[in-house]
Amino acid sequence: MKKKKPLTRSQNMARIKSKNTKPEIYIRKLLYKMGYRYRVNYSRLPGTPDIFILKYNTAIFVNGCFWHRHENCKIATFPKTHAEYWEKKFRRNVERDIKVREKLFEMDISVITIWECEINKMQRNEEYKEKYLKILKDRIERVFNYEEEDISVQMEIAEESMQ
Ligand SMILES: [Zn+2]
Repeated sequence: MKKKKPLTRSQNMARIKSKNTKPEIYIRKLLYKMGYRYRVNYSRLPGTPDIFILKYNTAIFVNGCFWHRHENCKIATFPKTHAEYWEKKFRRNVERDIKVREKLFEMDISVITIWECEINKMQRNEEYKEKYLKILKDRIERVFNYEEEDISVQMEIAEESMQ
């Protein structure tokens, strides 16, 4: 098998910054199949949610783990050079996310974050995907208010309690 050439830094940046990235489209298609209708890149709300489901007043952000600093995630590595630059940049991203979340909360909009690594896993693992989508559905429709924000963390807790 031929190895794929690694992307250059600028290609990488372009991929990260562009709207309608592949993971986003993957999730949108799933949500559509589940019967949800939504707006994308909804700029009328703080933070321009990637997906907004009006019926349930739910905003969904599809976050890259590196840029949004997903906790305890393998993808959220810390670059070894220019540490100060990166730290500042990351802090700004995280602070922005927190502010957006607070604003949406005040508007009684529920916020769901779907992480890049979770989407990767869904694409590889059908069983994980099924369980994930079940919790996602509960979250969107506000059937349960789960304690853990991350859906995959919530899944782990549910599995532990069953053993
Ligand atoms: Zn992650």
